[in-house]
Amino acid sequence: MYAKKVFLPVYLSENENPGSVEDLLIDQFFFICIRRICRIDVEYGSISLFYGWIEGCDTMLMAKMDDGRLISLIPPAYTLTELQTLRASRRFYCPVCRSPVILKLGRKKKWHFAHHTDEACLIETEPETPGHVTGKADLYLWAGRHGRAPKLERYFPDLRQRPDVYLPGIHPTAFEYQCSTIPEETFIRRTLGYLSQGIDPAWILGSTRRKRWGAFTRLTGFEPMTIRYAMTSPAGAYPFSSSYYVCYYDPNEKVFSFAAHLHAASETLFIAQEISHSLRNIRPFQVVTPTFPFFSDTFKQKWLARKKQQRLAPSIRCGDTEYLIRTLAYRMRLDFSYYPAFVGLPHEDYIHLQTPPYLWQMWVYFMIRSLSGCFSAKTLIHLYLCFCRQNHHARKLFSMRRLPLCPKRSLGQLIETYLNQLVLLGAVKKAGGAYRASATFNHRLPIDELLKEDRRMLERLERPM
Ligand SMILES: [Zn+2]
Repeated sequence: MYAKKVFLPVYLSENENPGSVEDLLIDQFFFICIRRICRIDVEYGSISLFYGWIEGCDTMLMAKMDDGRLISLIPPAYTLTELQTLRASRRFYCPVCRSPVILKLGRKKKWHFAHHTDEACLIETEPETPGHVTGKADLYLWAGRHGRAPKLERYFPDLRQRPDVYLPGIHPTAFEYQCSTIPEETFIRRTLGYLSQGIDPAWILGSTRRKRWGAFTRLTGFEPMTIRYAMTSPAGAYPFSSSYYVCYYDPNEKVFSFAAHLHAASETLFIAQEISHSLRNIRPFQVVTPTFPFFSDTFKQKWLARKKQQRLAPSIRCGDTEYLIRTLAYRMRLDFSYYPAFVGLPHEDYIHLQTPPYLWQMWVYFMIRSLSGCFSAKTLIHLYLCFCRQNHHARKLFSMRRLPLCPKRSLGQLIETYLNQLVLLGAVKKAGGAYRASATFNHRLPIDELLKEDRRMLERLERPM
């Protein structure tokens, strides 16, 4: 990968992020050029464009020969000697851009085809690790064993995209095995491209991307956007089970692992249940529409530990949203740590918000306290919009996470879900379509009682009277 610094004739404000610069470039006449760029860094006054076409950045397992036949390097098709003979007598071309490619038969990396160092392919490529090539080959062979007639590196000219493995059929699926980091805008563009053609993009992350943070799973950059949604337990059987999950594949161990039953604890931290299946024991449909067992006690333990930490040992680094809520609490003469137990409730759909549930729910609590009489989710959204006009940090309070592979949820739906939880807990009463705070809404408890109450609230939500 090398960088080239250019001065572009486009207007660029200081706050412009690389994603929007990319859009800006595409809007102008850099369309062909941008396809070859794998990263853009914005500096004051100039943009560095990182080109991803040096050797090793573009690794293919398929090529076209000069007699028009396609050749695949997936074992056991050819032996080393056969490939060496072919290399001496034939020429190989990229199936996408038709430029000559080199057959590499080294010992360190899996055998592959690569473009010449000075020629980029028409499609976007990013650095491919040996793990990526092995993983792609594993997925192809595995899907074939289960009778799905997979297509390796099938090129879609309309989309200018080439998924690692494509499964045709009633429910066409594109497996994208993603080991390297890609810009969020690239992820969205590829995902929406597949969806526009009725293809389900199933992003499988490389196992080296799996990060843990204490009891939490950490998802950063484009990773949260790979979250998928599958009904994982009979509706209502386990109120805290979650249909949201992320899939990983480890090409060394030949194991799929899932971060299942995801609940957001913060912008990048998630409570998850880890489930693994060896490649031998799982079928393609089980990756796309899996079912996972749910362990309620493990979940409650993790959720309550997090809540206790938020009450008693808040993080030293206080983000903008937490600062905003702390300021509000101070103005209302409320102790930040003593928020009621019905603040900080879990629900699978709260993953659509980037803010930790206890912070946005505390804001809802403050607003309900300040209201006299009936209110609705609409009232709260109206208050929020007013709040945003007064304070520019307030917009972050309800910033939605981008989950292109999950059913949409509106802010109104999420607030309505929370208000209904408050009704179940008796903190709020509902009559017709309107809500009203109950007599116990403003009760204050000492901290040891609150910690016990946190658990009782979860249990009551689990087994409503
Ligand atoms: Zn090419």
